[in-house]
This record gives sequence, C-alpha cells and structure tokens, in this order.
Amino acid sequence: MQLSEKALAISPSLTLKITAMAKEMKARGLDVVGFGAGEPDFDTPQHIKDAAVEAIRIGMTKYTPASGTLELKKAVCANLKTNHDLSYEPNQIVISNGAKHSLFNAFQAIVNPGDEVLIIAPYWLTYPELVKMAGGIPVYVEAKESNNFEPLAADIEAAVTNKTKAIIVNNPSNPCGCIYSQKTLEDIAGIAKKYDFFIVSDEIYGELVYDGNRHLSIANFSDDAYARTILVNGLSKTYAMTGWRIGYTASTPGIAKVMGSYQSHATSNPCSVAQFAGVEALTGPQDEIKKMRDEFNERRKLMVELVNGIEGISCVTPMGAFYVMMNISKLKGRKLDGEEIRGSVDFAEKLLEKKLTAVIPGAAFGADDFVRLSYAISRENIEKGLRRIAEFVGMLD
Ligand code: PLP
Repeated sequence: MQLSEKALAISPSLTLKITAMAKEMKARGLDVVGFGAGEPDFDTPQHIKDAAVEAIRIGMTKYTPASGTLELKKAVCANLKTNHDLSYEPNQIVISNGAKHSLFNAFQAIVNPGDEVLIIAPYWLTYPELVKMAGGIPVYVEAKESNNFEPLAADIEAAVTNKTKAIIVNNPSNPCGCIYSQKTLEDIAGIAKKYDFFIVSDEIYGELVYDGNRHLSIANFSDDAYARTILVNGLSKTYAMTGWRIGYTASTPGIAKVMGSYQSHATSNPCSVAQFAGVEALTGPQDEIKKMRDEFNERRKLMVELVNGIEGISCVTPMGAFYVMMNISKLKGRKLDGEEIRGSVDFAEKLLEKKLTAVIPGAAFGADDFVRLSYAISRENIEKGLRRIAEFVGMLD
C-alpha cells in the first residue's frame, strides 16, 4: 500500500539527529552543553500560572469557540493596538495551538497546489514543510550575512513568477537573529502589492529586540500591506509559554473566517485553560518580559564577543530573537583525525562527539556555512560551550 505523496514529501528534521545524539549522551551522564534550545530557559511567570489554576478551579475546562475565546481575541486586539497601532476586531483573530499551527492554517487557507511561496534563506526549517503540506512550492531567496541577513529587493523581485502566492517575512528572524529595516519592509510590501500576493508575517520574536530597536510590523506600513498580511504571533517566546500552545493570526475577516472553519474541523479550540492564562499573559503585568529581554541581551553580547574572539569563526551581531549564526565557512575542508569537515553537519557532529557541545547545523536552515547557537542557556554554559568550541577549532588540521 502506498503512503500519501504529500506526506512522503515532508523532510525529516536535520536537527533531530544532533538533538537525539545530545539527549542520549546526557542520559549517559555526560556533561553536554546544548546550544540547540529553541525556547526561553525561563519559567512561565507566576501570575500566568496562577491564572491557569484559577481557570481549572472555576471550570474553564470545556470547549470554547473553535477559533478561540472572545476575551483572548480582545486581549490580542488590544496588544496589537498598543504595540503597533494596528486596529483589528475580534472577528479578524484566530487563536490556534501555537504559532506553528497558525502558520499551518495560513498556508492551508491561501495556497493552491503548485502555488509558489517565497522564503528568505536562512529560514526557519518548518516553513518549507508547511508550504509543501499545503501543496505549495517553496522558492528561496538568499539573504547574505554581509547584508546582516536582510534580503535585497532586487533578489526578491527576481524570484517572483506568475505562480507566486505569498512571501514569508520572519522578523525578527530565526535563525539569523536579524531585524528588518523600515526600507526592507517597505520594499517587500511594495513588491507584494505590485505582483499581488500575500504576506505571511511571523512576528513570534517581536518582543525580543535589543539595542533600543523597535520591532516594526509590516502590516502597518500601508492599508494595502494591512489587507494582504496574515500576521502570526503567539505567547511561546515572549512569555516563556512554549508548552501552553497558544498562537494567533490577525488578518482580514474573510481570511480569518476560512482559517477558523479549517481549524474547527482539524483541531477545534486550543486548550481552554491555556487560553484563559493567555488573557492574563497579555493583559497582566508585563515586567517579566523586560527582565527576560535584559538577560537575553547580556548573553547575546557575551556570546558575540566570545565567538568573534575565536580564530577562524565569526558572527554578525544579531539584533533580535535569541540566536547567533556562527560562520564556519573558513573551517570547511579542514580535517580532524584525517576526516574532512565538509560542512555544517560534519562540524556539528564532530563537535558533539569530541567536545560534548551541541549546535544546530545551518544546513537545516539552507545555510551550510553556518551553525546556529541559541543563547537561551545560562551565561556559565555559554562560556563553557564556547571554550570547548575554541578548543575544538584548535584541534583541526
Ligand atoms: N516561528 C518561528 C520563527 C519559530 O522559531 C517558532 C518556534 O520555534 C515558531 C514560529 C512556533 O512557535 P509556537 O508554535 O511555539 O508558537
């Protein structure tokens, strides 16, 4: 019996092998430093946890409307107004089981088989798979490290065809940690208007920007950009709530209706308790966000300094999220015990094996000259891990 072609087209995660190896080594009692984390290492703030307990106590334990509770939708609208001066009504919001699910809904709603979706590389590894799940074709536009990983308008425009249905804008970006300038966002909005396609704007790291920068949402660049943008965000990264699974989209009422119907048959509502706690996250005290951001900022500076202090590797300073893209291109072709480092996967595997330090190979993000380091780990471990990386580089012939 044949399995579905669509399901078979989905790539297994390249990061899984390294993560599984690291886990297995840790389980054996080895002192592994893990730079792979894709989630804040902080606990969910207490007042949000208390709200969840309260939700259970008062019986918020049943189905809610499939696209989310009115209270949470209102809280999302208020948040988008305060942070971005964006006006949305609750019927434009769909609450889902995390931003990943929101993105899934978005592509199911807009992509027909054979439609192309522009993805800026290096990219979050889930995007191409979500596009393929909707029957679409990922089309990559390379953003260069020399341009701080911001794409050039000319490169985006050159990738547009009459099949282009959407572009994904991930700002701030995972894995690059870059934030897009006003000019880049204006260019993208202009190209989307000129060729009439959707903008899927993943703003999940929007609260994690540093050096006094502000995160700009492409949806408020013009009325046209607002109408063609499906804005995606969620509570996972901002409030250290990755396990609670609350994400959302803000879009036109028409698109929201289609995504809501789709979700109503696929999963029904996101967890009622998590939604109740989500209202507290968005409307309660926001001081924990600043504390987490300040700590990430210190770690960011430490990591950038340590990486750039190692001969043969380097990084540009990321402005957002909690990742550093470490350039290993100069090490390609060098050898360890007679074996050549051909690319990021070899680098990551050998580093883990020899120095018990786990990094994510850039090949997973369409960028084999890099490995991704997360600074969602303690400063102590950042120092320890980078000492090990320096020793590892020193071992190469
Ligand atoms: N978008 C990006 C760029 C991410 O890095 C992640 C998580 O790693 C997500 C979306 C999904 O977040 P969640 O589904 O936890 O809300």
